[in-house]
Amino acid sequence: MCLSTRLVTWAIVSTDDRRRMSSDKAEYKRQETELDELYQEIILDHYRNPRHKGRLSAPTASEEGYNPLCGDEIILDVEVTDGVVSDIAQRGSGCSISQSSASMMTEVIVGEPIADVKGLIASFTAMMRGSDDDLEELGDLEAMAGVRKFPVRVKCATLAWHTLSQALEKAKSS
Ligand code: ZN
Repeated sequence: MCLSTRLVTWAIVSTDDRRRMSSDKAEYKRQETELDELYQEIILDHYRNPRHKGRLSAPTASEEGYNPLCGDEIILDVEVTDGVVSDIAQRGSGCSISQSSASMMTEVIVGEPIADVKGLIASFTAMMRGSDDDLEELGDLEAMAGVRKFPVRVKCATLAWHTLSQALEKAKSS
């Protein structure tokens, strides 16, 4: 089931049905729908205009991740300078969730110290497992929380992050 199915379902509920709903319930539903739309916009924007797409000429480490459930593939090049992720590039192919998650990830981690990046990886994967503890820290990445409604797609969202974790391990020993 794709992310937009719920929106479409909501859109085809007749106006009369909506009027019959208590105003509180309708308002709650409206806000929820708007949130979904906002999140979809963020995800689709990253899918259509991926950030840090490509490869680095001299990466400290490269790592490839594959999600057999969906066929998603992500290849990351990371450059680590003085304990900071000084540059990153990503490429690959797969569903919009996997590719946009990779794009969003590169945008937030470039220029960050490795310790902070590791904290972010932990927070993001915790969110995808159902935790709402670190939503503030995660900012726009919260858009991916909508994917939790489709458990089989969670691996799409976390693929880039697991791959990054492995790339950082490699960078440490290089
Ligand atoms: Zn996928």
